Amino acid sequence: MQIKEPVKILDVPIHPFTMDEAVSALENSIQNGTQAFVVTANAEIIMMCQQDNEYKKIVSQSAEIVLPDGAGAVWAGRHLGYKIPERVAGFDLYCQLLNKAAKKGYKVYFFGGSPGIAEAAKAKSEELYPGVQIVGCRNGYFKEEESSQIIAEINASGADILFAALGAPKQEKWLEKYRSQLNQKVLMGIGGSFDVFAGKMERAPKWMQDASLEWMFRLYKQPSRFMRMMALPKFVLKVVFCGKKA
Ligand code: UDP
Repeated sequence: MQIKEPVKILDVPIHPFTMDEAVSALENSIQNGTQAFVVTANAEIIMMCQQDNEYKKIVSQSAEIVLPDGAGAVWAGRHLGYKIPERVAGFDLYCQLLNKAAKKGYKVYFFGGSPGIAEAAKAKSEELYPGVQIVGCRNGYFKEEESSQIIAEINASGADILFAALGAPKQEKWLEKYRSQLNQKVLMGIGGSFDVFAGKMERAPKWMQDASLEWMFRLYKQPSRFMRMMALPKFVLKVVFCGKKA
């Protein structure tokens, strides 16, 4: 896999890929039979890495591709003087990969969300991307000791791509812990993306995404995220006062 040199935002490496470059790097992995663990790092994830060394190590050392997800990550990279061509949001990459999967016949497994959500997301994917093969679904509520059974089911499905929607950092920690036992060539945490496809959660309208206001929409829809979202202003302050180009 050809990897662009990462830039560092608050000591977290970010690969300044465009969406097309990210999709083609992941397709290369599928075609070459090498495994790629991809993290879409938004400001919240970069801030989690400041406090959680285990998570930082996973994002910095285990993931093959770390993408700038969200306006905050793109702004921070540019503020520090790096060329960040565009935002590569996890949800958009998930959609792009489903589209490719439908066209090229890659098989996909949906792991995560409340019971029934992955199945509803599968139905929506089949409607949006005719021909896409979602070869298995499993909800994201399980006991740690069930992991080996879950891995066996995922591997038996013959999937090439595994989307894990367990929320950050749980999804990356689970994928890292078990990646050597997982046969899929693309491993990716996608947070609440199945909830969006299942109609349980709305995505911000395009104009809000373009105006970098997606965070405001999420806060309006899920006020319970207020404390988590306090990471965003802290992120901005940290980048402005402590950030430096590596
Ligand atoms: N979830 C899960 N198992 C868990 C905790 C969460 O499957 O043990 C799911 C939850 O149902 C939701 C998603 O993970 O669908 C988390 O969505 P969120 O938008 O919070 O993702 P984040 O912003 O953390 O990436």
